[in-house]
Amino acid sequence: MTDTALRLPTRDDLRERARVSLERVGAVLPEGEGLTARTPVTGDALFSLRATTPDEVSSAVGAAAEAFVAWRTTPPPVRGELVRVFGDLLREHRTDLADLVTLEAGKIGSEALGEVQEMIDICDLAVGQSRQLFGRTIASERPGHRLAETWHPLGVVGVISAFNFPVAVWAWNTANALVCGDPVLWKPSEATPLVSIAAARLLERAIEAVDAPRGLHHLLLGDRAVGEALVDDPRVALVSATGSTRMGREVGPRVAARFGRSLLELGGNNAAIVTPSADLELTLRGVVFAAAGTAGQRCTTLRRLIVHRDVADELVDRIAAAYRSLPIGDPYDEKTLVGPLVNAAAADAMTAALDRARAEGGEVVTGGRRLDGPGEYVEPALVRMPGQTGVVREETFAPILYVLTYDDFDEAIALQNDVPQGLSSSVFTTDQAEAERFLAADGSDCGIANVNIGTSGAEIGGAFGGEKETGGGRESGSDAWKAYMRRSTTTVNYSGHLALAQNVSFL
Ligand code: NAD
Repeated sequence: MTDTALRLPTRDDLRERARVSLERVGAVLPEGEGLTARTPVTGDALFSLRATTPDEVSSAVGAAAEAFVAWRTTPPPVRGELVRVFGDLLREHRTDLADLVTLEAGKIGSEALGEVQEMIDICDLAVGQSRQLFGRTIASERPGHRLAETWHPLGVVGVISAFNFPVAVWAWNTANALVCGDPVLWKPSEATPLVSIAAARLLERAIEAVDAPRGLHHLLLGDRAVGEALVDDPRVALVSATGSTRMGREVGPRVAARFGRSLLELGGNNAAIVTPSADLELTLRGVVFAAAGTAGQRCTTLRRLIVHRDVADELVDRIAAAYRSLPIGDPYDEKTLVGPLVNAAAADAMTAALDRARAEGGEVVTGGRRLDGPGEYVEPALVRMPGQTGVVREETFAPILYVLTYDDFDEAIALQNDVPQGLSSSVFTTDQAEAERFLAADGSDCGIANVNIGTSGAEIGGAFGGEKETGGGRESGSDAWKAYMRRSTTTVNYSGHLALAQNVSFL
């Protein structure tokens, strides 16, 4: 690791950066009480903001429900025009938003820009989708009958988002929801209010530009209590919640109890299998980005490396060497590859997990040190484990890569699947039979299964999400739009006779 005597911007620099970006997007800081805007870059508190009150949440839901009445009958391609204009504004303010992503989530510049690019990409996808909200015509068993499915807008959508993708996940939900005819209420992470204010202002500007109903989007700032108000409000048809499995365990049953719909995107514990035929150079690059990139703070971060015994020593040595050369520090510095953890609790959790790993028989090959100074900067850790022990089965939201070894490919797949989470997975191999085996019905049980690429960095065109304790939700591309609509099945009888289904006779 290059030993950075951390050179970090000052609190005043960071406040100024925030002010400039917010001003450029046309947003006004809601200064007041209830929520503190902080930065992981230095750990400083930057601004005191006014949190949304429970009464305001309730009236926002009411306004969104009113907007729904007008929006649901607006032709979908006209709804798409709103998203097109929003996408243009995102293009124009790409660096303003990326700067704020770095400020609040600690992402390095290229990853912060990548997050904004995902927002732009989903807008492009949703604009096209607005002309393709198609149902099916199904063969009827009765003569002179037409059987068809039509998709209609669902209602008010509540989006609860996590700190680590502070704006992209909201954009995935919002672009799709808007073209599907649904208003959106957004409760961002309490750790990332500033970038949320900026992104929401850009959408508001798009709404004004196309003269869409003003109640189509509401930003609700605050802690989990604000999220809970959305969860419990029967006027919210869908709650799309991204965050920890702990959060999903609370949100899922509460929404279900009122027969609402939920879309859950929760924690992962992602693995890559490396077989003896793997291209180790490609594997090395794929593994280091997936495991240490974003300082281990992606839901798709690589947390478990399942390596064939014959290549384990060589690969571990090469990863350790790469880890030692990773520049850690100020995420605004172009040379930095590993920025800060979000807060001290995250760094404490990393330290505790490493202590536990050692107690469970693990050997820390490299990394794990907390750097001195403001902010929570840590060396990504590489840990050899004797097996899939307790700590390995849990998601620690920090850069720890556990290495397990295997002898037989079936054993590797069994290890890969033997955790409670089911988000992302990959195999590095040049053996096609192994790749196909990994992708088969008895292969990886995850929502994402990759070959010769790491576990993180999904494209917008596919459906994103995972199984088991990851929650089962799917967002962004493919047919994920259907989550934001309701399906109506229609039978039209134009035969002039009444024929009952299943040959039932009556009267
Ligand atoms: P978190 O669970 O602490 O918070 C996420 C959001 O949920 C926040 O906005 C929070 O205020 C809200 N919240 C928490 N408890 C709530 C409750 N009971 N009712 C309503 N709202 C509640 O997660 P985090 O620390 O911000 O993010 C990291 C976690 O998110 C990791 O576990 C990561 O894997 C997961 N994540 C998953 C995905 C995915 O797509 N699967 C994407 C990003 C992050």
